[in-house]
Amino acid sequence: EIIDPFTKHKKRMLMFGSNNYLGLANHPFVREQVKKAIDKFGVGIGGPPLLNGYTNLYRELEENLASLKHAEDSLLFSSGYAANVGLVSALINHGDKVVYDEYSHASFCDGLRMAKADAISFKHNDMNELESLLNQNNSSSGETFVGVEGVYSMDGDLAPLDKVAPLCKKNNTILIVDDAHGTGVMGETGSGTAEHFEVDELVDITMGTFSKTFGVCGGFISASKPIINYLRFFARSHMFSASLPPVIITSVLAGLKVIKNQLELIKTLNENIKYISKGLKKLGFNINPQSAIIALRVPETMNIREAAYHFHKAGIFVNSIEYPAVPVNQQRFRISLMATHTKEDINKLLTIIEEVWILFNREIKLKAS
Ligand code: PMP
Repeated sequence: EIIDPFTKHKKRMLMFGSNNYLGLANHPFVREQVKKAIDKFGVGIGGPPLLNGYTNLYRELEENLASLKHAEDSLLFSSGYAANVGLVSALINHGDKVVYDEYSHASFCDGLRMAKADAISFKHNDMNELESLLNQNNSSSGETFVGVEGVYSMDGDLAPLDKVAPLCKKNNTILIVDDAHGTGVMGETGSGTAEHFEVDELVDITMGTFSKTFGVCGGFISASKPIINYLRFFARSHMFSASLPPVIITSVLAGLKVIKNQLELIKTLNENIKYISKGLKKLGFNINPQSAIIALRVPETMNIREAAYHFHKAGIFVNSIEYPAVPVNQQRFRISLMATHTKEDINKLLTIIEEVWILFNREIKLKAS
């Protein structure tokens, strides 16, 4: 229920714009554990990890995340943004080479700026360009890093890790996967996109956040022990920033338990993705969703603002991604599915999508219309 900013009245909306993919932000077990944690620990810790902010609970989460990611160790940050900036600026130095996907998140790019590395982007998911950039004569004496995302946040497509990871091994490069949107939902056990592609062992470093599947905020890096130990003292956004409070740590630990004990949540999410895919195909959309993020590109003939208002009036919350955040010909509605959506919820969304495409885009005929 929301207070409608247009009418100032209370209104029930269906949420199709949250990264709370498994419903953990409202899960009864998570709520209960967090309430207990408040009673036990209070709300905060009041210090950074290398002073008073490193507790048994904090270590427990680092270990649990390492186990989720099939990695040797993990390190926590107060946001996913801080994790990427801390990782990249600490590990990559002047003289190293970085080859990264052009759609990489701002936090990765900001880390690169701080690292002052020799960085070059390749066309989104273009394996030929990645390969040719890796094969180019490397005059620098440093390491070569490759940066991709498991699930791309604006389009919901995946990096083909089954191709990227072997290519990186062959070229002796260090592979960094930002799995902000894949952690907890991709792969059989929710380990992430590397598990989905069965290449866990070939990924050197994974970044994840607590702001998506876990429904809170915070971030982490998983990697080998030497890398994590190094980052513990050189990732400045870790060292010089206050530790996540026990309530947040507890909610992520509880969320991990839910994922482990209720694997059916991931299955339901995948069924919902299949269900909406079928529905969208029936409506004539030519898309093939690979994750819980579905980008509905808006034709240039459609006024996206008017269309977005129609979704709102119909009680559907979707994110409207508009120019100048993206070029005019790439404006889109970004739908995020959750395991907690019912078939009825998805049917309602499909009905309104059909309505919007008929009302606001008269030039394109939907098959179903
Ligand atoms: N990487 C990716 C791919 C993201 O989508 C985001 C969040 N939009 C981040 C990093 C930053 O994470 P956080 O919001 O937890 O700081």
